Amino acid sequence: SRPFRLDTHDVYVTASAGISLYPDDGEDAKDLFKNADTAMYRAKQQGKDTYRFYTEEMNMEDRERLELENQLRKAIDQDYLVLYYQPRVNILTGEIIGMEALLRLEHPQLGTVLPDQFISIAEDTGLIIPIGKWVLRTVCQQHKAWSKQGLSVPQISINMSGRQFMDPNLVENINEIIEETGVAAKDLELELTETFLMENPTRTIIILGELKWIGFNISIDDFGTAYSSLAYLKRFPIDRLKIDRSFISDIPDDPDDMAITKSIIAMAKSLNLWIVAEGVETESQLSFLKAQGCQEVQGNYFSCPLNVEAATELLQKEQMTDSRGAKITGIRGDKSS
Ligand code: C2E
Ligand code: MG
Ligand code: MG
Repeated sequence: SRPFRLDTHDVYVTASAGISLYPDDGEDAKDLFKNADTAMYRAKQQGKDTYRFYTEEMNMEDRERLELENQLRKAIDQDYLVLYYQPRVNILTGEIIGMEALLRLEHPQLGTVLPDQFISIAEDTGLIIPIGKWVLRTVCQQHKAWSKQGLSVPQISINMSGRQFMDPNLVENINEIIEETGVAAKDLELELTETFLMENPTRTIIILGELKWIGFNISIDDFGTAYSSLAYLKRFPIDRLKIDRSFISDIPDDPDDMAITKSIIAMAKSLNLWIVAEGVETESQLSFLKAQGCQEVQGNYFSCPLNVEAATELLQKEQMTDSRGAKITGIRGDKSS
């Protein structure tokens, strides 16, 4: 574990080991090696520089992953992909000011599969590139469809994976889709995770600059989970910062999370960033965030992610006005102020 000195650099080498035991994990060398290999890959996946003993479940998980990968390859053609929409709400007025598009795999046999289970497979296999294009195109088409129905469409946010930023044609592809569908970039927002931004800051700043120039809004997702360099944070052309759900979920019981949330909000304000809290589930979380000056909230307290039909109904209901043109209800049925 001691580093090697190569020229002016310290180089670290780590070792990962997989272990299989005779006779439980295999009757011959071939099976034992194969299973030890599976265990070694698991050790690497789970952070490297460690060891894992082989278990029967590892093979099952690998088979499930392979099955999911196969289904993912067919997903676009077979219409297995679906977008749900979760409202983003102005904390002071209760108005819906945006919707986040969240991807689901709806499969006749596998049922509904959530993105945490398949996005990493899509990234590893490169499938995230066509899937990402599908997401953007579908969001644009939905935007058009809602406008056609006479609804005023709130800004729609799209999650982007870091892998998409490795695609040299990213900006060109995005441009093509928005031109083809005729949706203005300013009506869309691209969300990138803090982890990705901080891993590849210099290259990302350039691409984000181009996207910003086209007119997109940019936000940092899951903020607080990586180690942000404040120097970079200032240089990124970003509009909004989304505080990760893990800090919100234990408010008001965890004083540390409350202190962190409070300081993220204060920092964002001093950098002139719009601040959003994710995963708001309770009244007390909402009032704490309001007191700290958080501007926008998203979470099951207001609405869980909705399929197109339910999202349409919500927008229609929210945009109903009385005879004097005043809004009738806010998202939780309160009279909005
Ligand atoms: P995210 O962008 O941070 O999205 C927020 C996640 O929190 C969503 O999970 C949402 O359903 C969930 N959530 C929202 N409010 C609450 C709440 O009050 N309580 C709880 N417990 N959960 C809440 P979901 O839909 O499973 O998505 C997970 C992640 O998958 C997303 O995290 C995003 O990083 C990724 N993802 C989703 N759609 C896409 C996509 O189209 N492309 C890419 N690249 N990634 C996507
Ligand atoms: Mg997001
Ligand atoms: Mg998030």
